[in-house]
Parts: sequence; C-alpha cells; structure tokens
Amino acid sequence: MEKHVRLEGHIPAERARQDPYVYLPFSVPPRTRRIDVAYEYVEPVTAPFGMGPGSTLDIGVFDSRGREFLDGTGFRGWSGAARSEFFLAPRESTPGYIRGPLFPGEWNIVLGVARAEPVGVRYVVDVRLDVAEDGEEVPDDLPVLAGGAVSTVVKPVGQADERGSDGRSGRWLKGDLHCHTVHSDGLNTVRELVDRAIELGLDFLAVTDHNTNTHHEDIEALSDRPIILIPGEEVTTYWGHANTWGLREWVEYRCADQGSMAAVQRFIAEKGGLFSINHPKCVGPPWLFTGWEGFQSMEVWQAMWRFYNWESLERWDNLLQRGERVVAVGGSDTHSVPPAKPRHPHGLAEPTTWVYADEASEAGVLAAIRAGRVFVTDSPERGSRLVLSADEDGGPPAADYGKMMGDEVSGGVVRFRVRVTGGFERRLWLIADGEPFDIIPIETDDATLDFSLDVSGRRYVRAELRGRRGRPERGEVVWAMTNPIWVAQG
Ligand SMILES: [Zn+2]
Ligand SMILES: [Zn+2]
Repeated sequence: MEKHVRLEGHIPAERARQDPYVYLPFSVPPRTRRIDVAYEYVEPVTAPFGMGPGSTLDIGVFDSRGREFLDGTGFRGWSGAARSEFFLAPRESTPGYIRGPLFPGEWNIVLGVARAEPVGVRYVVDVRLDVAEDGEEVPDDLPVLAGGAVSTVVKPVGQADERGSDGRSGRWLKGDLHCHTVHSDGLNTVRELVDRAIELGLDFLAVTDHNTNTHHEDIEALSDRPIILIPGEEVTTYWGHANTWGLREWVEYRCADQGSMAAVQRFIAEKGGLFSINHPKCVGPPWLFTGWEGFQSMEVWQAMWRFYNWESLERWDNLLQRGERVVAVGGSDTHSVPPAKPRHPHGLAEPTTWVYADEASEAGVLAAIRAGRVFVTDSPERGSRLVLSADEDGGPPAADYGKMMGDEVSGGVVRFRVRVTGGFERRLWLIADGEPFDIIPIETDDATLDFSLDVSGRRYVRAELRGRRGRPERGEVVWAMTNPIWVAQG
C-alpha cells in the first residue's frame, strides 16, 4: 500500500537568516518498507558554482529516534542540494542516506536554506511510503554503520626515513585530506576514488563527504587495499566548512552560531578526531564563525593558488603570530576523477599533503598532523619537496638537525636546514613571524641550505618554495610550504 504525503510551504528570507533549518514532520506507520522523497523549489540557482540569481535549498532526514542537536541517533542522511530525490529502505538506500529499519513514528525532513532570494523560497516535498499489507514481508536489517576507534593497522606504504640523533624514526607518507564521492556531491564511487589515489602513488586518502558518514562503510570494505583510508566528514554549515578526520560516527552540521560550532568542536575532540577549517577564503566559501580557537588544523592550500589561497595563507600567518599553533594542511576538494568528467581544472592530490609518521596507519597520519610534522606540495610526483629541520646542539660537525616541523626550539641562535627537491629555478622563501627574512634562488634539483638565525623574540620559522606557473604575467605561486618550527615562548 502506498501512502503519499505532500509537504509544501514558503520560507521567508528573514526566517532563513535567523535559522536556516526548517523541519517538516511526517508520520511513518509500522510495517513501512520503503520511503521515497522528492522535492523542488523556486527558483533554484542554475549558474555554475552558485553564481547568478536564485535560491538553494538543501535536504536531509531524521528518523523517529530524534533530531536533537549533536545527538546523532536519528540522523538518516543528507544530500545537500546535490539530489532532487532519495529513498531509504532496510537493505539499501541512496548514497548519503543510512539504510536500516524504518522506525515507526514521527520523522522529520530537514530543509537547509543555503541561499534565499529576497522573496524567500517556496518548496514542495513529496514523501511516498510503501507500507506492507498483512502477510507481506518487512525486512528489518539493522544499520551496519557503527562506531569504532582510529585504526592502527599498519600498511606497507611510505618511505622509511631515520632522522637525527633523538632516535626518531618514521616514514614520509603522502596523501590527500579532502575529497567527495557520490555519498554527497561528488561524481565517483569511493572505490573509483581509492583506485585513482593508488594509481597516483598516494599513501593515504581521507574521504570527506558533506554532512554524512555513509561512505565510511565503503571505506571499511576497501580496508585491504594498499593505502591508508581515513574516514572523514566535511562539516558543511552556512557559516563555513571544516573537515573532521578519524571518527566513524556522524558529526553534527546544523551550526548556526559560534556556540553550536564550539559544541561540535568539543564533540570531535572528545571522540579523538581532528578538526580542520576548510578553505578560509572568499571563494571557499569562507569561515564566518567568530571563533578561531580550539581547532588543530587549517586547509591553507585548497585547489590552485589562483583560487585565492593567498587569503588563507595570510589568515594562517596571522593566527600563528597570535600564538595559535595551527597546523597547515592541503586538500584538493576533488569532486571527480576519471572515468567521471572533470569538475575542476586540478585533480586528486593537487595539492599533496606529506606527513612524517611514526607508523603507516590511520593513527600514524593523524598523530603526525596533530604534531605539525607536515609539508604541502603541488602534486604527488612532479611536486617539489620541502623539509625544514633545526639543530640546537652547536652546529657542525656534530649537527644532527634532530628537530623538524612541528617541534620547538628554545631560543638564541639556532641552525636551520632546508632540503628542497624538485625546486630548480624556483625561489626559497624563509619566513619568521609572517615576514620573509631571506629569498634564495634554487639552482639545483636537490638542494640543502643551512642558515643560522637568532630566534629570540620570535614565535616561528617556516619555509615556502615559490615560482612561476604558466604565463609570467600571472606571477608566482607557492609550489611547496612547510609548517613552522616553533620558538618556545618565555
Ligand atoms: Zn567545502
Ligand atoms: Zn569539500
């Protein structure tokens, strides 16, 4: 028996500004075995990348176990504005939605007003419920999505690298921390994305679909592949986006003020996940929450430099100068790889994030990011590599340069070393507290440069490799950048 419910109405623009989420309750009777939802609204944005006039109305659903903020129990999926219809059933569902029992009771469609014309947004949502007649079977499979700890399974990837006399031995791992699949607005399956990552020689890949965790199951199913797969979610709010890595559970996205965002950050920290602000730049979309504290990392390099990464870089340098030890990472934000048609002029792992990890596991990658042992480069193969280290033990001949990015030096005159590979004809920028103190042309493809600097009164030292890309009038871009070596603050 099919039951049809039509939910229609109008959301005034002013209401959306105060609270962008609108809930439309509907009743799910016992013995429901499939729910189909379709919606439309006037006038949707039609121009690419959301340019031009129109409104954007996102959609998701919570089941009868509840829709309380931060409590994920009733979360059953989200598709943003990427789909005009979806379904849920006990054994299958549209990617982005959680299959499983269709608990009877009051469910809620959630509409999110991403953008509203001044006249507001008029919508129609059609819910169709397939309810079993007496004597007909109702499957009752439980959802397979489950919690779980960060994985310590070691993979045979990366390059072993012994460093310094402090006994540190680890490996360099390269990967991408930001991409999307069909579980949100990407064009590929998780498997296609993982195949592409392996083809590119990546050691790790974080899959970060918007506001859902249904891709985690596909990640789990691919756990035998020779790559570290990190479950993630791009917490996508109307005030900015952030990646979280390492959690299995769904993470709340309905943040509409600083307090609710802070609650989400606490939730992630308590569960042991990492939180990283994404693309904080005008085309990002930008980060508009007032707080800039309490997060470990920031996507300073997203996509290509001409897409305004200079804004993110400046924002990051300002935070560092205020004493916030935020770790810079890169993310391609890929939404398609072959065989899907390209959506952006850059590909997966452009940029590539390199981490120095104690072990080649998900836990190892996340610990390395947390520790700031990270540099970011243009691409996995042709990209330059840039490693900054420091020596406090009096310099050559005993110099071991045992400190690296993310570590702290105590002050006074410190010897630093920068190793640049693939940097021929580019320029090395040495930067302390946001200001370059030296710019050195690189004349070989494998260069090691040593310098001394009195770091007294400073907070940090970092390095960038800059050079032309394309036509000279386009100016320079960053080809690689390190995280800082910190100076202990008295
Ligand atoms: Zn984003
Ligand atoms: Zn994204």
